[in-house]
Amino acid sequence: LNTSLPDTLIRNARLILTMDPALGAGSLGAAENLDILIRDGKIDAVAPRIEAAHARVVDASGCIVMPGFVDTHNHLWQCLIRGWGAACGLMEWLETGVGRLQHFRFSESDAFHAARLATLDLINSGITTTVDWSHAFSPEFVHGNLRALAASGMCYAFVHRGSAAAMAEIRSVHQALIAPDPRAELQLACRPGMAPELMADLEAMRTLGDELNARLHVHLLEIEEQRADRPLQALQAAGLLGPGLICAHAVHLDDAELELLAECGAGLVHNPLSNMRTGAGVMRLGDAMQRAIPVALGLDGGTNDSSDMFANMRAAVGLQRASRRRADVSPTPAEVLRMATAGGAELLGRFHEFGSISRGKRADLIILRPETLNFAPWGDPVAQIVFNARPGNVEWVFIDGRVRKERGRLADTDMQQAIAEVQEVADRVRQFLCG
Ligand SMILES: [Zn+2]
Repeated sequence: LNTSLPDTLIRNARLILTMDPALGAGSLGAAENLDILIRDGKIDAVAPRIEAAHARVVDASGCIVMPGFVDTHNHLWQCLIRGWGAACGLMEWLETGVGRLQHFRFSESDAFHAARLATLDLINSGITTTVDWSHAFSPEFVHGNLRALAASGMCYAFVHRGSAAAMAEIRSVHQALIAPDPRAELQLACRPGMAPELMADLEAMRTLGDELNARLHVHLLEIEEQRADRPLQALQAAGLLGPGLICAHAVHLDDAELELLAECGAGLVHNPLSNMRTGAGVMRLGDAMQRAIPVALGLDGGTNDSSDMFANMRAAVGLQRASRRRADVSPTPAEVLRMATAGGAELLGRFHEFGSISRGKRADLIILRPETLNFAPWGDPVAQIVFNARPGNVEWVFIDGRVRKERGRLADTDMQQAIAEVQEVADRVRQFLCG
């Protein structure tokens, strides 16, 4: 229980990016000379020179404190197939890998070990919230997957891929495993399209979403070929184009589709590293931002290859600059840094809970050490977080006020064991895929 945690006082930080404009300068709420007091898992105070007699003191001299990263689209189990299909485009990668694993019999512990490795990698990289779009291969798989998410201690959304036939199963998973956990939420997924069987699934998910107060989270126009399904028309016909809708990728939108999404208030998730790997294309990120469409960042599982949000931010900036052949386009480093933290919390409708270092929010925050070969010397820290930093700069991670990474090492974690356990599952999976 959080009530048994000692208070923690973070002192002497060189820079705090609060993401709260009331607490500091500019859109990132940048401040110096602030201390942060954590009590009962929450941010209790952010002010100069806090005195707290019994608190554990974390000396952040020379460091940067900021909210943990919010990853809004991932497929955690896909760490099992890292390296798969190195030369494949999206459809071939899906067909040779994910599609064939529909027929692999995952045990509960297989799914647990995979999702556990992935959550440890996320926490080590400074991510404190994830959205796990699960392929939900079987009830055993879902249980193992959710057990690892709950054990991670992170705030999370579990996206249950569903169909008209799976409604009762999803309802019981929600009731038993998700609703009781205040850190968890359910989202629903299916493939949007105008074909009658796809429309039936979409309408079933709308009904279930209304019943369970769960949002729909779909893959939308990641590659041009998916236009054949007419996904936006299907979402519109099912009455699902609205503020709760989360659309991952959305690479191939024309002007009219951007306008439609801007009007309806749906949110987009940009997965730049994955889009680069599969050759999907370059999202019209600047055009979406100009229309005030909410956009957050995602780490997209196997085709993303890493849980490195620094690399993801760098790619989000770099793809826009390279494709427009100029460096003064959106997103700026400050914009992408906000997108990876506060923007993610906003997209999930949970900014009142996390995403900024503000009084009363969950104490989900990270401390970066910039005095390293890859980051030093101190110059423009916001630009350097985006262009120079990597997970090795994440020195401390707090989730719900608990220390999860301390002086550069994951707390209470036997990494060698976690790796060995997932290797055993991965060997069987690879044998199945190559056999
Ligand atoms: Zn995805």
